[in-house]
Amino acid sequence: MFGYSAFRGAQAEIVDHVIQGGDALVLMPTGGGKSLCFQVPAIARHRRDQGVAVVVSPLIALMHDQVGALEEAGVHAAFLNSSLTLDETQRIEREMMGGRLVLLYVAPERLTTPRMLAQLDSLEERGLLSLFAIDEAHCVSQWGHDFREDYLALNVLHERYPGVPRIALTATADELTRADIVQRLQLEDARIFISSFDRPNIRYAVVEKTEPRQQLLRFIQDEHEGEAGIVYCQSRKKVDETAAWLGGEGITALAYHAGLDADVRRRHQDRFLREEGVVMVATIAFGMGIDKPDVRFVAHLDLPKNIEAYYQETGRAGRDGAPADAWMAYGLADVVNQRRMIDESPAAEEFKRGQRGKLDALLTLAEAHDCRRVRLLAYFGEASERCAAYQNACDNCLNPPATWDATEAARKALSCIYRFHQNRGQRFGAGHLIDVLRGKATDKVAQNGHESLTTFGIGADLSEAQWRVVLRQLIALGYLRTEGEYNTLELTASAREVLRGEVQMLLRQPSDAPKRGKGERGGKAARPGRAKDKAPPLPLDDDGLARFEALKAWRAEVAREHNLPAYIVFHDATLAEMAQAAPATLDALGHISGVGAKKLEAYGREILRVLGG
Ligand code: ADP
Ligand code: ZN
Repeated sequence: MFGYSAFRGAQAEIVDHVIQGGDALVLMPTGGGKSLCFQVPAIARHRRDQGVAVVVSPLIALMHDQVGALEEAGVHAAFLNSSLTLDETQRIEREMMGGRLVLLYVAPERLTTPRMLAQLDSLEERGLLSLFAIDEAHCVSQWGHDFREDYLALNVLHERYPGVPRIALTATADELTRADIVQRLQLEDARIFISSFDRPNIRYAVVEKTEPRQQLLRFIQDEHEGEAGIVYCQSRKKVDETAAWLGGEGITALAYHAGLDADVRRRHQDRFLREEGVVMVATIAFGMGIDKPDVRFVAHLDLPKNIEAYYQETGRAGRDGAPADAWMAYGLADVVNQRRMIDESPAAEEFKRGQRGKLDALLTLAEAHDCRRVRLLAYFGEASERCAAYQNACDNCLNPPATWDATEAARKALSCIYRFHQNRGQRFGAGHLIDVLRGKATDKVAQNGHESLTTFGIGADLSEAQWRVVLRQLIALGYLRTEGEYNTLELTASAREVLRGEVQMLLRQPSDAPKRGKGERGGKAARPGRAKDKAPPLPLDDDGLARFEALKAWRAEVAREHNLPAYIVFHDATLAEMAQAAPATLDALGHISGVGAKKLEAYGREILRVLGG
């Protein structure tokens, strides 16, 4: 039905287990192939007259496309949500109650309504409730980053229908969240399948934030011109501004955040999914359930909340397995802001402690000068070696950064802050501290008599940029914290360890690389003529390229007719394989990966015509 030649990784085992009626918790990275893990059991059980599989998915906006993809593959599926008319709803309910549907998608709040539960009761009595699949299962956990109240009510499934197998799936869950999912969904007896969380095709890179917009623009122009990507910003305002600015620079950029009209949001999401080469600038309100396979980059202009969020967000790049980038600009202000947001939140102290721990782990990742992939995977409990040849190596493996011993510098900074305090019990921000350390005679220095401090000028050997990195690291590691409106610096209890010289600090050498002007774009400029044309995922000769373009034009028409994104009709990779192999018969066409029986029957002849013409 799906046209694939084999299962991937743990899929076969999971599918077997669930077909037999077992419960499962599946942890698999984005793009790993989770959908098949419940779709194939649903199909198999349906064929054994076990009726309808119910899929719980939090994303009403995406149900249409998910169901469209199944129907394209010849699987009878539907969704129930508030976007349907009464007529449509009744028709789907009849299909469901007759046990004819293979899969039914619903949002959790709908599933637990009395009406729906009564319908499920009736299905179960007649042996027509084949399976529950709980997608994005981490939403049930308060520890996760996408907690949804409605998910809590899903424990009813086990209590009310103990005989119906359940499969819960998620792409992110550290130990704590995992345990929480098991407990809240009562999956104690479920088999747990944990795949490697490595995304070998994603390159992770963190750059020092200097002029974030320019840096972002250069990154997009140099590496991803004309390609689809997502840019995450923290605030709605920044989303709007960044999208408008990128637009002015000639990039097709759209904004997405919860403050926009639902209509505008839907239109932007549709364009992102349906057009090629759209950059979505968004808050974290965007992205869950986005299964567009050819997102070539995810960029963070602000620090994400924690590593789970970072991994989930960056995971939206490169689902198709082709090389993709996770790029982040990171600076002192990010650390300060995130710390303050936690400090000022009204949450309970215990919760804040958890959040601080998670932020610390993310900061350590951002500051790291060794392999980022190893650190990411270690966070999810997976041991690994530094990036290998089959992986798209992270920035640090690709260009191991020079480091310098900042132990002495850190002591100087902390003792200078200590002197401020001793002096008149005063506190100052980073700017003034750096002036004093570097021996700059500013007005503020004079007013406070700081040229007479023993620490005045003891740090003249370091540049202002280097000092900022030292301070950022001290804050990131919790030796310093910032206070109040002016972000004044204050020592924490553990600062003493640094002052006593007990902590060695090895810092990344700031890259004082000269700014590159427009026009001279390092080694990557040699991509003439790419403009807005995306390169095919396979190397093709001129004839192959012509066939690829013809297939894409044909696919665009079909997609428009069916009101679906093009990739649901066929992936780029499938079209490229067709263009390369140029099959002349239906039989040969059917052997291409991604061409299932239904699609072969529906489109085979037309494709042969396009290839032959
Ligand atoms: P996830 O939900 O885990 O992020 P998906 O279920 O969307 O991932 O699958 C990612 C991509 O991999 C999809 O395009 C899907 O069609 C494809 N895929 C899944 N399983 C296989 C397989 N066994 N062989 C080939 N492609 C597969
Ligand atoms: Zn690496």
